[in-house]
Amino acid sequence: MKNIGILGSTGSVGKQALEVVRNHKDKFKIKFIAARSSVDELIKQSREFNPEYICIYDKSKYDQLKNNINTENILVGHDGLMELCQLSSTDVILNAIVGYNGLEPTLKIIESGIDIALSNKESIVQAGHLVIKLAKSKDVNIFPVDSEHSALWQCMVGEEKKNIRKIILTASGGPFRSLEAHKFLDITVKQALNHPNWDMGPKITIDSATMMNKGFEMIEAYWLFNINAKNIEIVVHPQSIIHSMVEYIDGSIKAQLSNPDMRLPIQYALSYPDRYELNNLKFDVEKFSKLDIQPINLNKFKCVKLAFDAINSKKSYPVVLNVSNDLAVELFLKEKISFTQIPEIIEECMNNHNCIDSPTLSDILSLTKWTENYINNKYSS
Ligand code: MG
Repeated sequence: MKNIGILGSTGSVGKQALEVVRNHKDKFKIKFIAARSSVDELIKQSREFNPEYICIYDKSKYDQLKNNINTENILVGHDGLMELCQLSSTDVILNAIVGYNGLEPTLKIIESGIDIALSNKESIVQAGHLVIKLAKSKDVNIFPVDSEHSALWQCMVGEEKKNIRKIILTASGGPFRSLEAHKFLDITVKQALNHPNWDMGPKITIDSATMMNKGFEMIEAYWLFNINAKNIEIVVHPQSIIHSMVEYIDGSIKAQLSNPDMRLPIQYALSYPDRYELNNLKFDVEKFSKLDIQPINLNKFKCVKLAFDAINSKKSYPVVLNVSNDLAVELFLKEKISFTQIPEIIEECMNNHNCIDSPTLSDILSLTKWTENYINNKYSS
């Protein structure tokens, strides 16, 4: 029986993780769940899974939670969240928090010596140098939950790192794969939220539309698998069946395929090194008969180019890339800026920030504040 903790249990990945647990009650036990503010869903989940601890980040929702749940172990706010990250009786903690707020919990979990199933890619994007170093020193496993990194990981099982020539990250291309560049200016929030293959939360859906998501995943792969950025190729694969590939020095290429379903990478991160049943995922000759692979257009998807710039310059560039993207996406969702302003604002922040060589956690937090202030002052009103 594995004890599982979930940060962000009411989000898209969190809910699917609970579905995995529901399907394998003999293998997993929910130790704790935590949500930012979706208190109704959290109450529902608590009643079904009976976790030992429940945490609500938004303090204003505490009373509602307390009045509807019959347990003493209710934690609240940032302190409550940090307490969960140190519960050493947990075997694996899934960090499914969305956005740059996921970093502190990631570091705290690793510091506590607990294995982490990492869905919060922003942790690695902005602080890969800290996260990976800490995980090594604490001998903690980071199990990727992102479907592409899960694919790469599955393709590398039984292989030696020295034999990898390059990795090929696949991207669906999002809803605007075939749209001409000059029409990007008119893209609406509704159009951008309409992802062709994956059902995900709003932030990552916009990141898929701008393809920043793929830029982040390239940075994530760089850190997780210790692969030079020049050996990471991004290709467009509209069907989202091939989840990524690894090319070895003898020219052999391994790929991992399945219908797009996040429950598979989530489950693998929790079940590794074992595999458990996932009934309705199987080979489908109709769907698998046409698998297209195309080059990516970096002139159209400027966010991907910015991500390569950031990882090539290293230093504090990835931090600012990540935070400014979070905030720009939020402004776009509120219809305060246009779709094409997202990469413009990110580039502006990257160019204007005071570059720091090897940012510590406190540097990252102050760079986050700087970026928030910069964007709020200029674009929020
Ligand atoms: Mg992904």
